[in-house]
Amino acid sequence: MAKQEDQFKKVLSHAKEYGYVFQSSEIYDGLSAVYDYAQNGVELKKNIRDYWWKAMVQMHENIVGIDAAILMHPTTWKASGHVDAFNDPLIDNKDSKKRYRADVLVEDFREKISEKIQKDIDKAKKRFGDAFNEDEFRNTNPNVLRRQKQMDEITEKLTKVQEENDLEGFRQLIIDLGINCPVSGSSNWTEVKQFNLMFGTQIGASAENATQVYLRPETAQGIFVNFLNVQKTGRMKIPFGIAQTGKAFRNEIVARQFIFRMREFEQMEMQFFVKPGTQQEWYNEWKETRLKWHLSLGMGAENYRFHDHDKLAHYADAAADIEFKFPFGFKELEGIHSRTDFDLKAHEEYSGKKLQYFDHEENKSYVPYVVETSIGLDRMFLAVFSNSLQEEELENGTTRTVLKLPAVLAPFKAAIFPLVKKDGLPEVARKIMDDLKWDFNVFYDEKDAVGKRYRRQDAAGTPFCITVDHDTLQDDSVTIRHRDTMDQKRVKITDLKDIIKAEVDVKTWLQKM
Ligand code: ATP
Repeated sequence: MAKQEDQFKKVLSHAKEYGYVFQSSEIYDGLSAVYDYAQNGVELKKNIRDYWWKAMVQMHENIVGIDAAILMHPTTWKASGHVDAFNDPLIDNKDSKKRYRADVLVEDFREKISEKIQKDIDKAKKRFGDAFNEDEFRNTNPNVLRRQKQMDEITEKLTKVQEENDLEGFRQLIIDLGINCPVSGSSNWTEVKQFNLMFGTQIGASAENATQVYLRPETAQGIFVNFLNVQKTGRMKIPFGIAQTGKAFRNEIVARQFIFRMREFEQMEMQFFVKPGTQQEWYNEWKETRLKWHLSLGMGAENYRFHDHDKLAHYADAAADIEFKFPFGFKELEGIHSRTDFDLKAHEEYSGKKLQYFDHEENKSYVPYVVETSIGLDRMFLAVFSNSLQEEELENGTTRTVLKLPAVLAPFKAAIFPLVKKDGLPEVARKIMDDLKWDFNVFYDEKDAVGKRYRRQDAAGTPFCITVDHDTLQDDSVTIRHRDTMDQKRVKITDLKDIIKAEVDVKTWLQKM
């Protein structure tokens, strides 16, 4: 646990030190759970967004994008159920005065049991080597069976209190499980209350005739209300998708995990409209496709897992999360939801307008079903950043800090150094930079010894360093150094573009899907 916390602290300080993420309004001591992306962070974030957009929109003939406004007609949120049901159950510890999400307290407790099971499995794996059969071990080992039973009972009880909105039962469950406040260590809990997560604001010049509106808590509704406009003007045929990236706002109760849980964040969502009855098929298809997208980035298949929901949201008939192993454990990174026809039907009812598709093959109109893929851009940023940050022992006994970002996502693709600040070397380096910057985001640095400059770029995540030396003036060659392997090669200046492209091109990466 301590190791995980250390790693997370390193992620936070590295993100600040290397210009990735700053606390919002830091000079005023910040605003809780609100962050700013800095000069490198904004590039990484843009590259993640572009990688998603390429895969989801531009590589699919039947998916188009939109960019809807953050403010929407307030009835939207009545129809979607957010005004009445977008609540989190909160509980306070009377001694520490800290506030928690009741469901998260129980889920974290269950996750600890799951980690114990994993530990037993890992130990047995080591002991039995190749002869180890994990399924058999899970089904026969008494410790694992006992713990699994405990987890199943917790899941059942949690689902029950959530479904029945039994707030007293929720509190009792926390007490029965012996869950204590991580800060005070006590079980002196208040009652559980429901708390609506939407931020409200007003439109209008004077208080009397102002209209209450909301900052959207998800981007999806901007897609639903535009469904027919896009279908008609784009002449879209079912099945088809509408995608969007953009800000969403939630007044999160517990906001202590850096950019994992923010009050203002960005989502990348795609709503896929299908014929009723085919939703299960498409749900499975999108689960698989989205996992492949993640795996294409090469961050280790063992760091992802599916979590099928036991408690379904009011709109869903099936739902799963893709969870990622963050420095604080496996947590939701993306949700894939089969949303039925709930949203479109609700908007029909509240607006009095038909939101139906005329199917020429079937010769009838119907309200399509929807399968949604929804990923938090900031969570994806944290997944990439935390997974890439590594400390390496080098052969000479020293260590280096290296940010092994997937090259396709790295803010700068190459850094260009003149070996010394004289003898015409800076001019040649600048010329190379001027040529490469048409194709890649590149960085120029002439300060300090080259070794120090390499280390700075390793820590900033730049995949290539290019050094111009005195020989360059004679043979038009430079040294190119690879961030991950630290291999250095002498290459012709004219070959640089192809060498870099081969490693950073979106096509090469997405073709791994
Ligand atoms: P959680 O259970 O963690 O609160 P959720 O199930 O409410 O998340 P969804 O409503 O399914 O999340 O939103 C889709 C995605 O948006 C999530 O998978 C996550 O990546 C992202 N997301 C949701 N809330 C936040 C937040 N407060 N900060 C950053 N990203 C978020």
